[in-house]
Amino acid sequence: MDPGGEFPGVPIEHSGDFAAVPDAFQRLWTPHRMVYIEAGPTPHEESCPFCAAPKMDDEKALIVARGEFAYALLNLFPYNSGHLLVCPYRHVALYDDATAEEVAEMASLTQTAMRVIREISGCDGFNIGMNQGRVAGAGVADHLHQHVVPRWATDANFFPIIAETKAIPRLLGETRQAIADAWPRAADAGSLSAPDAP
Ligand SMILES: [Zn+2]
Repeated sequence: MDPGGEFPGVPIEHSGDFAAVPDAFQRLWTPHRMVYIEAGPTPHEESCPFCAAPKMDDEKALIVARGEFAYALLNLFPYNSGHLLVCPYRHVALYDDATAEEVAEMASLTQTAMRVIREISGCDGFNIGMNQGRVAGAGVADHLHQHVVPRWATDANFFPIIAETKAIPRLLGETRQAIADAWPRAADAGSLSAPDAP
């Protein structure tokens, strides 16, 4: 995409210019950069961000829900507003390295994430998936994480400009709070709709 091509007058930045783990996406907004500026010059020096996050408080780590074996947090490099990652606590790289408990809880957190995001954002669809290995596009290839990305019919054109050009650090915090607040009810809804135990 050429600067000013599809979105005249809007500067396009390449994620490869940013701190931390780049991905292949270009973004029209930049303020998530502030999170790193505020965090200091070497925020992720201490190895794995998905091992570090659970040791921090929820607000700081952008965690929206903690389970027994896995947890969910907002992606600091969102493809869309509300982009969540679901990770096991354990530092394992591959889906087939995860235990049955980890797989089950990642699935359940993913379902709850869908309900919560749909409820608070009115999104029209989702992309859900895992990149396994750096060649497959995994930014943090050593620690398994499932992407839950809400999609809107309009998100390829005006949505990013209108909704994402505000101060993202604030928005990430507000988004985290809204998702965390809605989480318990959505989790309950999931367990209620499950088949009755024999
Ligand atoms: Zn890790």
